[in-house]
Amino acid sequence: MQPSDLKNLTIAIVGAGYAGAAAAKALSLLGATVDVYEQASAVREVGAGIGLRPSTMDRFRQWGVFDAIAGVSSPSDYFEILTAGSDPIAKEEWPEIATYGEKTHLIHRCDFIEALLGVLPEGMVHLGHKLESVEDEGDRARLTFANGRSVTADLVVGADGIKSVVRAQLFGDNQPVFSGEHAYRAVISVDDAHGLAVDDNLRMYIGRGTKVYFLPLRHRDQVSFDVTALCPDPTWAPKVTKDDLLGTVEGFDPRIVDITRNLDMDAVNCRAVYDIDPVDTWHSDSVVLVGDAAHSMLHHQGQGANSAILDAGALADSLREAGSVKEALARYQATRKPVTDELQRISRQGWTEDEINDVFPGQKPTSQQPASEQPASEQPASEQPQD
Ligand SMILES: Cc1cc2nc3c(=O)[nH]c(=O)nc-3n(C[C@H](O)[C@H](O)[C@H](O)COP(=O)(O)OP(=O)(O)OC[C@H]3O[C@@H](n4cnc5c(N)ncnc54)[C@H](O)[C@@H]3O)c2cc1C
Repeated sequence: MQPSDLKNLTIAIVGAGYAGAAAAKALSLLGATVDVYEQASAVREVGAGIGLRPSTMDRFRQWGVFDAIAGVSSPSDYFEILTAGSDPIAKEEWPEIATYGEKTHLIHRCDFIEALLGVLPEGMVHLGHKLESVEDEGDRARLTFANGRSVTADLVVGADGIKSVVRAQLFGDNQPVFSGEHAYRAVISVDDAHGLAVDDNLRMYIGRGTKVYFLPLRHRDQVSFDVTALCPDPTWAPKVTKDDLLGTVEGFDPRIVDITRNLDMDAVNCRAVYDIDPVDTWHSDSVVLVGDAAHSMLHHQGQGANSAILDAGALADSLREAGSVKEALARYQATRKPVTDELQRISRQGWTEDEINDVFPGQKPTSQQPASEQPASEQPASEQPQD
């Protein structure tokens, strides 16, 4: 679109998570008038770490916000997969490092959202705006909020997460799908990591239906410690005891058991893990989905937040390159949906040893648990009973 057309474009974004904040940055750089409507009275994030991939960091560089993100993160060279007992299975350089000349950056989720929102102009984000309805009026769309306010825009961006109202009202009723797993997440001091925080690389310990994600945040002298374990209870925020948690890491490296034993349960975030099935259509002529609203995925590939950032970049590119909003939205979906459909699919596979061997064919486990120790329940999440 011509710069003058982009300058006249009004854009309303629903949701100020990673997808909404990144879209706000990318689209406002086009010259459009952007407003973000967030239901919460303050934007908060789960205390946990996240890995920002080289392609994501490259977008930040393009948007002029690289330093804001790099300043609160640690560059990481590789990730490693180990057995429950800490025997190495696979070790890989993060993909895309050679392509983008940038490392993956490990960041605390709170720092990430703060940095992203911090680069938006004052007044762009409107808190306390819970979307109740979205009406597609063809070349415009109308949003009505629970506080009684109503706005129209040339383009509405639904960045309202896994339970998206925009998706439910316009693009089909893709209900969240329970993975059969819980995630128990905490951020601990390096001093409490029993010597496991030796560098800036992500380690995943797997076995007995449990995955432990150990993600150093050394710029904070902390570690993000995430235990993802099989559990049939689909309650979104389940009540879990220390004994329950210790049961999930039974037989693991004693240092992991000790870390778990010393966790402050008041500081552990316990969540059932959900995704959605792929959504057939992400857009009309004036409304479009980004981030988890479009393609919520399980966290096993660490690609949900990265995908949200790449969506924002692709949407901005499409608006710049296409002749109209309508054409841009079709182009955006054609660029991004095949990628995220595949990520949704492989994220449901989890990390069984067979799957690791598929992904890293040259790297046979140096030491494996005997087959007899692998419970029958250690199947890809997608094969677990769905609620
Ligand atoms: C602990 C954890 C670890 C993860 N690790 C990784 C990782 O390492 N790498 C990775 O790439 N991904 C990771 N993910 C996934 C990633 O965090 C998500 O994919 C990402 O947060 C999605 O961002 P989003 O903005 O689309 O949705 P959300 O973060 O869900 O944001 C949606 C926003 O919309 C608002 N909203 C919702 N409904 C309404 C409404 N009706 N009106 C107005 N506002 C509304 C919400 O309040 C929220 O602020 C992880 C997820 C978790 C929980």
